[in-house]
Amino acid sequence: MLWTAEPDGSVVCALCAHRCRIRPGLRGICGVRENRAGRLVSLVRDRVVSADVDPIEKKPFFHFLPGSLAYSIATVGCNLHCLFCQNWQISQWPREHTGPVPGRPTTPREIVAAARATGSATIAYTYTEPTIFFELALETSRLAAEAGLRNVFVTNGYMTREALDLIGGALHAANVDLKSFSDRYYRRVCGATLRPVLETIEALRAR
Ligand code: SF4
Repeated sequence: MLWTAEPDGSVVCALCAHRCRIRPGLRGICGVRENRAGRLVSLVRDRVVSADVDPIEKKPFFHFLPGSLAYSIATVGCNLHCLFCQNWQISQWPREHTGPVPGRPTTPREIVAAARATGSATIAYTYTEPTIFFELALETSRLAAEAGLRNVFVTNGYMTREALDLIGGALHAANVDLKSFSDRYYRRVCGATLRPVLETIEALRAR
C-alpha cells in the first residue's frame, strides 16, 4: 500500500516521511516492509505482537471518551529508533533480528470482535508505531467504525500526508508524540527529522 515501483526493481514506500527506496530483497528502515521481486510487502499485516485492554487515559487521551476502555494493539517495528524508547523490545525488534517477525496471526475482524467482547469503546493503534502496520490498522479501523467503535492513533507523527489522507476518514482521534522542537534532537536521538512531525500535527488539527 502506498508504494511505487522503480525501473531498476527498487520500490519507494510513501507511508512515512523516510520515503525509503528499497532494493529487491531488502527492508525499509522500519524493518517490516520488504521488497519481494519488485513488490513492497508488509511483514506485519496480520502479526499482532501486543494486545491489551487499557483505560483510554493511559494512551494518554484525557478528553476523548473519558472513563472508557481502549483495546490496544501493536505489531513489531517502528520508523524511528528513539534512544529512550520504553517499548524497544518490540519497536526495535526488526533492527536486531532477521527472519520472520514475531506475532500472533490475527485478522482485522478478530481484532474488532475482541474489542467488542472486552467492552472497549475504541481500538487504539499504539505501543509501537501504527504507520508501519498501516494495512492492518486501515482495514481494522474501517471495520471498527462500521461496528460503532472509535479508532485512535498513538503516533510519532512521522507519516506522509498520503497515509493520513487514506486513513483519515476512519480515524477519530490521534495523540502525536512530539518529542522535541529541535530538529537536531530528532536526528541525533530518534533517527528522524522534526518538520514532518509538525506537518502531521498541523494536518490533524485542521481536520
Ligand atoms: S514505513 Fe518503513 S519502509 Fe515505508 S518509508 Fe517508512 S520506514 Fe521506510
